[in-house]
Amino acid sequence: MTDYRRDTRLARGQVPPVDRATIHAYENATPGPFFYQRDAHPVGFEAERLMGDLDGGHALLFSSGAGATTALVLALLEPGATVAVAEGGYFGTLALMETELARWGLNVVAFDQTGEAPDADLVWLEPCANPMLTFPDLDAAVAGAHSAGAIVVVDNTVLSPVLLRPLEHGADFVLHSATKILAGHHDALLGVVSCARAEDRERLAGFRTLSGIVAAPDPAWLLLRGIKTLALRVERQSSTALELARRLAEHPAVRHVRYPGLGDDVAAQYVDAFGPLLSFDVADGEKATRVETGLTLIENATSLGGVGSTLEARARWEPTRVPPGLLRLSVGLEDVEDLWADLAQALGG
Ligand code: PLP
Repeated sequence: MTDYRRDTRLARGQVPPVDRATIHAYENATPGPFFYQRDAHPVGFEAERLMGDLDGGHALLFSSGAGATTALVLALLEPGATVAVAEGGYFGTLALMETELARWGLNVVAFDQTGEAPDADLVWLEPCANPMLTFPDLDAAVAGAHSAGAIVVVDNTVLSPVLLRPLEHGADFVLHSATKILAGHHDALLGVVSCARAEDRERLAGFRTLSGIVAAPDPAWLLLRGIKTLALRVERQSSTALELARRLAEHPAVRHVRYPGLGDDVAAQYVDAFGPLLSFDVADGEKATRVETGLTLIENATSLGGVGSTLEARARWEPTRVPPGLLRLSVGLEDVEDLWADLAQALGG
């Protein structure tokens, strides 16, 4: 087969029809690869082939990013194991581990991923951490973790494989909430794990079938459809986000902007563009609410990575972890001048 470049591989071909059948009949009394949907299904299989190609590994779909996190911990670790999780990253990851998985016997330590990880069985990194936008020195972090015998998982939700391929930096697993920029249209809930080693994929696939943390055919189809434009979307969303970050940094009502494109030298060693996500601080929670309610174009909603921009005060979900005036903005595909006009009027003088 011709060795097409990535963007061609993404764009070419038709998306297969959605096969919703939960069973396929045996042939000669022998179950085929899609004999029961909890085990595997055709659209999921195709999405996994594409994700494995993009990540340079062996991919598996899950019901959501959180489902993928649950599967990784329960399938790979034993009770009593320790996970070191990047602080300032997705709060649900820490909340899941510190509550539900801690009850099962997991020890959890949050650490600053711009420094060294503490001793652990598994190190969990999140470049362009949501919402604090920190960026680890990936090569050093992987080398440090491996020399201490730890597994490395990189949550690459914000950047996507278009900007960063953590398996190439030695990570053992890469996780995506495909709900975000991969599917890209705020209409599919889905998780992906890509494994460096085929045997790890087998292990996780076995766990997935038994636990039932599986992706349905329809969201998998939306992923296959949405991902065709991924490279273009990431490029445009990143350039608009950089421009807005620069303008926000100059705005009198903005105290602080977090975006690795604004001079994070470590991030610049790993990526050419910095993704759709940024966060910035206004004076306090009241001002943050005034900005949220003052928006007319940007949606005051959660989530990130979609074609439509979204903004929210994160303190409503993680009040002990972020400043009360922190606003998280996920930049979509709208015209940069329309986005800026909306932000400027909502921020006021
Ligand atoms: N990882 C990151 C960085 C996220 O932002 C999210 C969700 O916001 C998740 C994981 C969990 O993904 P999902 O909502 O698909 O379960």
